[in-house]
Amino acid sequence: MSTTTKFRTLKDMPKEDYIAPGNTLCAGCGGALAMRIFHKVLGPNLAWVNAAGCMTIATSYPLAPLKSNWLYTAFASAPAGAQGLRDGLDVLMAKGKLRRSEDLKVVVVTGDGAAYDIGFQSTAGAIQRGLDFYYLCYDNEAYGNTGFQMSSSTPYGSSSKTTPATAAFPYGNTDTKKDLFEAWRALKAPYIATLSNSHGVDFLRKVEKGGTAKGPKLYIDFAACPTGWGFDPKQSIEVEKLAVQTGAWPLKEAVDGVVKHTYVPGAFSPVRNYLRTQERYEHLFKPVERPEAIATIQKSVNDYWAKAAAEEGLKVRLAEG
Ligand code: SF4
Repeated sequence: MSTTTKFRTLKDMPKEDYIAPGNTLCAGCGGALAMRIFHKVLGPNLAWVNAAGCMTIATSYPLAPLKSNWLYTAFASAPAGAQGLRDGLDVLMAKGKLRRSEDLKVVVVTGDGAAYDIGFQSTAGAIQRGLDFYYLCYDNEAYGNTGFQMSSSTPYGSSSKTTPATAAFPYGNTDTKKDLFEAWRALKAPYIATLSNSHGVDFLRKVEKGGTAKGPKLYIDFAACPTGWGFDPKQSIEVEKLAVQTGAWPLKEAVDGVVKHTYVPGAFSPVRNYLRTQERYEHLFKPVERPEAIATIQKSVNDYWAKAAAEEGLKVRLAEG
């Protein structure tokens, strides 16, 4: 896998946009921004394969803003659609009916609902078959398109439509977020990475690097969702940045199963600084503070980084609760 890069600073981000301005998504949508950056790196010869979700709304006729191709599939079957598309392109090229220069990169784009839950079965099959495709999950940590119900990506302590904070459940969701990164690693995908739109150079390099690997490539983008998380849309990048600075969203990659963190905060900010930015965590602070729940979240962040530090020899200055 290539380790050279043409992306040194944000000024190296390709200027060409393949998603036209103006669409039907919410202002400040992190998922839309992730698609836009992803497309810039991969260029125009690309076919998106989409499972039902927020991005489906962006591409509904006659308002489609894409300058590339789009195949819409049912919730559970985007990787199966990607297999059909990949096979079709390969057969056309083998028969000389499509020039190599006209080949398309096949990119599944889904929210966490399809990636973590409903579509995982067909995803596991595609990984097993070694399908050569990209998988971009814009992870907004709930089913955003249908009103923000809990998914298995919803973090502990977050309220959602199906895990509201109540007298019986004062912390909201008490399950922990599924580890999709590790699930793909167990299935031996050659390249797996997490992304944040707030760390653009890291984002660009990972898409570039993963593209030099043949086979399934997963990207989990931390996709700020102003509508579901409850914050001002103009704060999207700030919220994403805080998730990284507090350690709540680690930036890392796994090449052939070997994990490396690609960014380690110099000094970790307390996780409460991130939680306070969003209404989905408001019940942890009002009308009374829930220090035990905040401490549980801080402990899980600190435990994660203590383990990573031990495994990779990282120097970390963890925050206190
Ligand atoms: S609900 Fe969230 S993820 Fe969906 S379009 Fe709106 S901001 Fe984006």
